[in-house]
Amino acid sequence: MKSTKLIIVGATGSIGRQTIDCVERANAVEPGRFIVAGLSAGRNAEALAAAGVKFPGAVLALDVPHAGGDDFRYTGPGASSRLLRETECDLVVNGIAGAAGLLASIEALAAGDNLALANKESVVMGYSHLAALAKKRGADIIPVDSEHAALFQLVRRIGASSIAELAITASGGPFRARGLEELERITPDEAAHHPVWKMGRKISIDSATLANKGLELIEAVRLFGMPEERVKVLIHPESLVHALVRTADSALYAHLSAPDMRLPINIALHWPEEAAADFGALDLAGKTLHFEEPDAARFPMLDLARRAVRVGEAATIAYNAADEIAVQAFEEGLLRFTQIASVVARVLEGDWALPVPDVGSIFDHDARARSLAKLAVSEFEC
Ligand code: NDP
Repeated sequence: MKSTKLIIVGATGSIGRQTIDCVERANAVEPGRFIVAGLSAGRNAEALAAAGVKFPGAVLALDVPHAGGDDFRYTGPGASSRLLRETECDLVVNGIAGAAGLLASIEALAAGDNLALANKESVVMGYSHLAALAKKRGADIIPVDSEHAALFQLVRRIGASSIAELAITASGGPFRARGLEELERITPDEAAHHPVWKMGRKISIDSATLANKGLELIEAVRLFGMPEERVKVLIHPESLVHALVRTADSALYAHLSAPDMRLPINIALHWPEEAAADFGALDLAGKTLHFEEPDAARFPMLDLARRAVRVGEAATIAYNAADEIAVQAFEEGLLRFTQIASVVARVLEGDWALPVPDVGSIFDHDARARSLAKLAVSEFEC
C-alpha cells in the first residue's frame, strides 16, 4: 500500500480543515494511507492544538510567538518555513491565506516536495521562481483552486497541444445582480457571505469584488502558459461547471462537479494516482445551468487583473498587494466596497514593467505596492 507523508500549512483554515477531513476519510478506508508529519497555523493556537491531537506525532508550528505549553515545536514568524525545512515529507498542502503563503511554497519546492497549492497568491506573486524551483528539484505543483484543478484534469486528459482557449467560471458572488449605487453601501459582513462556497473571509470578499477571479485569471495564465486573451471568465451562478477548454476544432469540454472543495483537495492528495471519492457526486437531473459575461463596469477588478498580467510579474504582485491592503481597509471601515478597485487601479497606474529576478525583488515590489495602496486609502473619502 502506498503511504504519503504530508504537511498541511494553514491547517486551521477552510482549506486546512477540509484537507484534514479528506485525510481522515482516506485513512478510515485504508489505514495509514496518509501520515500527517506536520501542521501549521497563523495565530489560532487552540485550533492548531486540537488538529494536532488527531495526528499524534505531527510536528506543530504557529507563526506567532506563544508562551503557553510545549505543544508547538516552532513558534513565531517563520515557524511554517522552519517546519517545512526540518520535517521530511512527500507532499505539502498550502492552505495559508494571502501573500504569507509564498514562503511556504518556496520551502516546499526547495525541499523537493510535491506542492498541493490552494494559496493562489503564490502563483500570482512568484510563479516563475516556483516553476524554476519545481523543475530543478523534480517536484510537481498540483493546483487545488477548484477552477485550476478542473483545468489541470481537462488539460491532462485532452492534451495541451490541442487546446485553443481556456475558460474559468465565477459564481458572480453575492452582489451579481446589484446596481452600482447599492454596491456603494455594502458592509464587510455582507461581502464576506458567499452564496455557494464556505471559505475564509478574505477570499469571500474577493469573490464579491471579483478580485478572486482576477487572481485566478492570472493563476490560469501562469499555470497553463496561455496568453491572457485566450483565458475567458464566465459568470455561472450555479458553480457546477468549474472550467472549460475549447479545442482547435471548436469543441468545448467542461469539468463539472459539486461545489465541494474536498473534491479538488482529494485529487491533489492522491496525485499522480487517480483519486476515489465517496462524497460530492453530482446529479444533473433537474439542474439548469446559466452563463453570462462579467460586467466590467460594476466589477472592475477583473479587467485590472488582465491589465496587470499583460504588464508582467511585478504588476501582478502589485495587484495582489494593493487588493490585500484595500480589503483590510474596507474591513476597518476606511474604504467603501467600490473603492477597493479604485485603490488597486491607483496602484497599478505606477510603473510595474519591472524585472523580478529573485525572491528578494518579489518582496520589494510587494512592499512598494503596499505603501502606495496605503497612501491611496488615506486619500479616498469613505
Ligand atoms: P482561511 O482564512 O480560512 O485560513 C487561512 C489559514 O492560513 C489559517 O489556517 C491561518 O491560521 C493560516 N495563516 C494565516 N497567516 C499565516 C501565516 N503567516 N503562517 C501560517 N499560517 C497562516 O483561508 P482559506 O482556507 O479560505 O484560504 C486559504 C488559501 O486558499 C487562500 O489563498 C485562498 O485564496 C485559497 N483558496 C481557498 C478556497 C476555499 O474554499 N476556502 C478555495 C480556493 C482557494 P489561523 O487560523 O491561525 O489564522
